Amino acid sequence: MALMNINGQPVAAASGATMEVRNPATGEVVDSVPKADAEDTRKAIAAAAAAFPAWSGMPAHKRASILNKCAAHVRDHLEEVAKLLTAEQGKPIRDSHIEVDRFAAAIEQYAGLVAGGALHGEQMSLPQYKAMGLVVRRPMGVVGAIIPWNFPLTLFSSKMAPALAVGNTVVAKPASTTPLATLRLAELMTEAGLPAGVLNVVTGPGNVVGEELIRNPVVRKIGFTGETVTGKHVMAAAADEIKRVTLELGGSDPAIICDDADVELAAKSIAIGRFFNAGQACLAVKRVYVMESVADEFIEKITGRAQRLKVGNGSDTASQMGPMHTAGGREGIEAQLKDAVDRGGKVLAGGKRPEGDGFDKGFYFEPTVVVNVPDEARVWKEETFGPLLPIMVVKDLNEALQKANSSEYGLGSSIFTRDFAKAQRAIDELDAGYTWVNSIQVAYDELPFGGAKHSGYGKEHGSEVMDYYLEEKSVILAGV
Ligand code: NAD
Repeated sequence: MALMNINGQPVAAASGATMEVRNPATGEVVDSVPKADAEDTRKAIAAAAAAFPAWSGMPAHKRASILNKCAAHVRDHLEEVAKLLTAEQGKPIRDSHIEVDRFAAAIEQYAGLVAGGALHGEQMSLPQYKAMGLVVRRPMGVVGAIIPWNFPLTLFSSKMAPALAVGNTVVAKPASTTPLATLRLAELMTEAGLPAGVLNVVTGPGNVVGEELIRNPVVRKIGFTGETVTGKHVMAAAADEIKRVTLELGGSDPAIICDDADVELAAKSIAIGRFFNAGQACLAVKRVYVMESVADEFIEKITGRAQRLKVGNGSDTASQMGPMHTAGGREGIEAQLKDAVDRGGKVLAGGKRPEGDGFDKGFYFEPTVVVNVPDEARVWKEETFGPLLPIMVVKDLNEALQKANSSEYGLGSSIFTRDFAKAQRAIDELDAGYTWVNSIQVAYDELPFGGAKHSGYGKEHGSEVMDYYLEEKSVILAGV
């Protein structure tokens, strides 16, 4: 059994309860982890609080040096952690390699920023008051990080790395179906010299462990990624303590393909954007609006790409798309597709569970393309969290922008065009936290990332994220 990391020690739940972690490709048990309760969570919070004075009081370059050792130690174990991630999450092993590497890179990014002096404040001369004003930025204390299952390591590091680098201590709660790689990473960071209590990982149900993190007054900030409905609950519950929250929530990202677009580029980008991680990405392209003159060409190209994708067990290096993560997730996609087809939608690629050896026990679903789906269908309104791409033909940019903005979500958005004026309109008019122009939908670590409308509140990534883990204090130095 993999154990939790509390105060630098491997720890079981006090009750002895455990949870099984299963491989979505085979249904086999990979390992089990402790099923913590509120009391276990409070122990982790107390350890993080006890570690805070020494960690926040350490010179930033020394914290950075310890964090860089953690990143190096993680890289030394990249293969081992990547295998664990594929076994518990289902994604292709090549993608797990990228995710572990990105985890280490995030630690290095924020270690580098704080070592380079990024924690400076501001100074203002106020001669009219015979005073000087300062704005100092201070770490908050204990941070709770609540993480989903789709990118368990990227979304762990996007909270933990900036929070620790600026001097906070962290209690992290991974999703119950993907705790194993996270626990191993915390163990590796302890081995590399991270002081006890600075990073704690507690495994258990969201409505027990997560709820304690949100409601416990010692935790001063929650970094949350997950579904919009859970995020609304987190925000409401955090209000009792006036607790700071960052919420990275669901999305239904539109992509607009203009009549002057590079159609090959659009098809290539959207095939990756939609089917990467079996379609289970917050910033996946979930709706396509293509203009009439290029519609046939685009639909033919994207259908071909969907049909050629090699679906299989993520541990097989030939697999380009693994199974979906859960049975419930696959049933959700099937129900959304059925609704689209019942309303007149025509399936051009996929549309069903693949058959044959190796597919019977996993939660596989074929990469699917559907056209002729009317506005009222669920796929245009809800988040589709799986490999299902609906395409709508539109007459012009006005119609495309109006439909793109008709969602309650506002995470990412894309436009493919060779005309800068059209791109400029999309940048100005799309209600979203990100607009990609002629690009694959990748969230770059260098830029802030976070959604508008029901897709979230606050930012991750970029140097900006550090402000979300710091409090500002104004200081007056008076001469008299
Ligand atoms: P989820 O909301 O079900 O769970 C997320 C986390 O919250 C898990 O750790 C879960 O245990 C915990 N949780 C559940 N109930 C809780 C409660 N009452 N209190 C505190 N914590 C609780 O989300 P999921 O299904 O794991 O993730 C998929 C969703 O995440 C999708 O909607 C996706 O779009 C979104 N997502 C968003 C981003 C982003 O950056 N905007 C990134 C990745 C995923």
